[in-house]
Amino acid sequence: MTTFAEQFKQISISDMSLTMKSCTASDVEWALQNPTANLNSLMTLLSPAAMAYLEPMAQQAAAITRQRFGANIGLYLPLYLSNLCANECDYCGFSMRNKLKRKTLSSLELEQEIAIIKQRGFNSVLLVSGEHETKVGMKYFESMLPQVKAAFSQVAMEVQPLNISEYQRLRQLGLDAVMIYQETYHPQTYAKHHTRGNKQDFAYRLTTPDRVAQAGVDKIGLGVLLGLDDWRVDALLMGHHLAYLENTYWRTRYSISLPRLRPCTGGIIPKVTLTDAGLVQLICAFRLFNPQLEISLSTRESPSLRDNLLPLGITHLSAGSSTQPGGYQNPSSELDQFDISDERSVEQVVTQLKHRGFNPLWKDWEMGWISD
Ligand code: SF4
Repeated sequence: MTTFAEQFKQISISDMSLTMKSCTASDVEWALQNPTANLNSLMTLLSPAAMAYLEPMAQQAAAITRQRFGANIGLYLPLYLSNLCANECDYCGFSMRNKLKRKTLSSLELEQEIAIIKQRGFNSVLLVSGEHETKVGMKYFESMLPQVKAAFSQVAMEVQPLNISEYQRLRQLGLDAVMIYQETYHPQTYAKHHTRGNKQDFAYRLTTPDRVAQAGVDKIGLGVLLGLDDWRVDALLMGHHLAYLENTYWRTRYSISLPRLRPCTGGIIPKVTLTDAGLVQLICAFRLFNPQLEISLSTRESPSLRDNLLPLGITHLSAGSSTQPGGYQNPSSELDQFDISDERSVEQVVTQLKHRGFNPLWKDWEMGWISD
């Protein structure tokens, strides 16, 4: 079976970058008329030339989002299982070289985290861990997934890449979605930031969404860490990846995340700064390209920016997040993966959503609603 890796080899990133830089105002005007499912239009809408068209892009994106998703915003919370990691990624607080207290949740600690998250009203959870095959591998996932699934209608995971049979096994235990971020599609930049451990294998990570889809998992989340390299090109390559996946595995649902590099223990300075206006351009370009796409926004962004970005294409939000294992039971910041910018409570975020006319959605998924 072919994978995205074969298609990726045919792409010249330098040619793509040059073509994007040469886009003109009339190209943008054409793309605004023909944005959907067209990779050339996505390139144009992500280009520097489209910055002058943010207002019409935003209006169009807001109308499409309202038509497809109504005023609904799905709410989820990350649940950190472990900060053990056998990789070195120089932008992450969990990196193996960082001297911080390591922790993996026991079954009892997991139950305590679940109880707090449930009490806050959440029905959708994203399980997160560092990448540590031996101590936080399949055996651990198999032991805790039934416990989590008993409490939540939707369970997503953001952990190390697995093989097809492992994803199949987790799906049987209740896994609904897998988030797998390529971080950057520039191979040299990827090599520079991933200096130790299994994550050094660019191609294995690139083909992970193929394996997730082949295992029949319902939803796949893609993402790039904005700031590692030219964000316009990374976003466009993610668009190519998304288009390939949708064409190949049409039964699967897709989401994207657009995280900007945030400060963390031992972290690096972003090579490229993505401004707030650039983030608006990104969200609008993807909404116009793909009206069905779920777009989530994490607490990395500030409260006011998150509130203002909502109508443009955002469909899912986290709120009141902790980015460390056991962080809901014992809040502190000593074990954090990265710094949070929106520190509002869930109640404050929900109040703000309602004030702005949005409907906070606690549950939009139940595995029993689909048949095998
Ligand atoms: S980004 Fe993931 S793999 Fe890399 S150090 Fe952090 S937790 Fe580990």
